[in-house]
Amino acid sequence: MDKFDVIIVGAGPAGIFAAYELVKRKKDLRILMLEKGKGIYQRNCPKHYNGGNCVFCNPCSITTGWAGAGAYSDGKLSLSHEVGGTLPDYLGVERTIDLIKYTDDIYLQFGADSEVHGAKWSPEMSEIQRKAIEANLKLVHCPVRHLGTEKTQELYRELYDFLIDKGVIVEFNSPVQKLIIEKGVVTGVVTRKATYGAKYVILTVGREGSHWLLHQCEQEKIRTEVGIVDIGVRVECRNEVMQEINKNFYEAKLIHYTKTFDDKVRTFCSNPGGFVSSEYYEGNLAVVNGHSFKDLKSDNTNFALLVSQKFTEPFNAPIDYGKHIARLANMLTKNKVLVQRFGDLIRGRRTTEKRLFRNNIIPTLKDAVPGDLSLVLPHRIMKDVIEMIEALDRVSPGLASDETLLYGVEVKFYSNIIKVGNDFQSLSVKNLYLGGDGAGITRGLMQASVNGVVMANEILNREA
Ligand SMILES: Cc1cc2nc3c(=O)[nH]c(=O)nc-3n(C[C@H](O)[C@H](O)[C@H](O)COP(=O)(O)OP(=O)(O)OC[C@H]3O[C@@H](n4cnc5c(N)ncnc54)[C@H](O)[C@@H]3O)c2cc1C
Repeated sequence: MDKFDVIIVGAGPAGIFAAYELVKRKKDLRILMLEKGKGIYQRNCPKHYNGGNCVFCNPCSITTGWAGAGAYSDGKLSLSHEVGGTLPDYLGVERTIDLIKYTDDIYLQFGADSEVHGAKWSPEMSEIQRKAIEANLKLVHCPVRHLGTEKTQELYRELYDFLIDKGVIVEFNSPVQKLIIEKGVVTGVVTRKATYGAKYVILTVGREGSHWLLHQCEQEKIRTEVGIVDIGVRVECRNEVMQEINKNFYEAKLIHYTKTFDDKVRTFCSNPGGFVSSEYYEGNLAVVNGHSFKDLKSDNTNFALLVSQKFTEPFNAPIDYGKHIARLANMLTKNKVLVQRFGDLIRGRRTTEKRLFRNNIIPTLKDAVPGDLSLVLPHRIMKDVIEMIEALDRVSPGLASDETLLYGVEVKFYSNIIKVGNDFQSLSVKNLYLGGDGAGITRGLMQASVNGVVMANEILNREA
C-alpha cells in the first residue's frame, strides 16, 4: 500500500490551499490529492459550446474536478469575515481577518485582479444604507475582489502547475469511497483503484461530496450537527433596476427578517451583467445558480434570495430536504430550471412562453421552463421571498415589477456540520481534518481557501 504524509480528498479551493500551505512551509512532505472529477485542462462543460443545453455529465464538470465548484464560479472573493462561512466561530474575528488578508495575498500572487470593489464608503453608499434601514434591511459591507470565471480558471491552473512542480501527486477520476479508521485514528482511504495509507487525512469534499461525507460519518460514528437549510430563488432583472447598488457596492449583501414569519432572508451571489445558469447534482438534479464573466456582459443582473431555516430534533436531513424541494421543481420541468415572472406569482398564475417574452427583460438562462413556483416552494418560503422582494423594491425601485424573473429553485446544500475542534480536527477521529463547504463550515471561495490554509498549519504545527 502506497503511504503518504497527508492525503487531501477533494481538490476544491479548500484542498488546493491546504496543499499550497503544506508545500510552502515543508518541502519534503509526501502529499496525495484525490479528486473525483477531471483535471483543470480536461474540465469542460458541454453547455458552453452546444447552445446552453446540459447533457448530464457524470460527474458534472461544473462542480467537480480541479478547483471544485470554484473553477466555474464567478471568482468573487469576499473579503469580509461576515460573509461566506462561519470561520470566526472557530478562529475568532481578528484571526479570521488576518487569515483572509494572508490568503488574499496568495490569490494576488497567482494573478488575482488588484482592484477591490466596494472598499471605500461614499455618500452614495450612505444613501443606500438609509433606504435599506427604512425598508428594514441590514446592509453588510463586504468588499469584493472579482476575478471572473475565465481568470478564476487561469489562476487555479497556475496553482495546479505550482503544486505539481513541488511534487504533489494529484489523482483525478478518483472518488474516495471509504475512510480507513483504526482504533479512532484515520490511517488511509480507499478509492475504486487502490488503497492509500496516510498519517493525516484532510477531507475537503465540497457540497458535491457532502452526501457521501454524511454517509461516512454515520458509518464511522463521526459526530455531526444539523446544518442550516438555505432555499429560495434566483432573481433576474434588468441592470437599470439595480444600477445604483451595482455601481456603488458591486455586490450588496442585504438581510431582511420577514414580517409574517420573522425568517431570515438574504441576498447572495449577485451578478451585475451576469448570466443565470443551471447546476446539476447527482441524479441529474437541476438547481439554479448564476455567474458573471469579466468581459462578456448581459443586460441583466441576477442574485439569489435565500431563506435560512434552522431545524431542530428529530430532523437531521437538511440536504435531503433541499433536494426534495428541488426534485419537485425538476418533476414539473423534466430536470430543467423553472422560471416565473414576479407578477404571475403574485396573481397566482403560471408563467407561459407568451408572458415570458412580452417584457423588457430577456432571460439569460435559455433552457429554463416557464411555470409556477408556488407549486414547488412551501408557502412559508414563498411568502418570505415575496416580502423580501417588496422590501428590496424600496431600495431598488422596479424590482417588484411584474417582469422580474424568479428562477427556482436555488438550494444551498450545506452539509450537516461536522463536529471539529478549533483546529478542524474531527472530535471523533484523530488525524482526520475536515473543512470547506463539505464540512458545513464555509460557503464561499475565500473562507474555504482560508480553511485549507488553517488545516495545513495545524498539521504542520503538530509535526514541528
Ligand atoms: C456556479 C457557482 C458559482 C459560485 N460563485 C462563487 C463566488 O463568486 N464567490 C464565492 O465565494 N463562492 C462562489 N461559489 C461557491 C464556491 O465555489 C464554494 O464555496 C467553494 O468552491 C467551496 O470550496 P471547497 O473546496 O470547500 O469545495 P468544492 O469547491 O466543492 O470542492 C470539493 C471537491 O471535492 C471533490 N469530491 C467530492 N467528493 C469526493 C470524493 N468522495 N472523493 C474525491 N473527491 C471528491 C469534488 O469533485 C470537488 O472537486 C460558487 C459556486 C458555484 C457552484
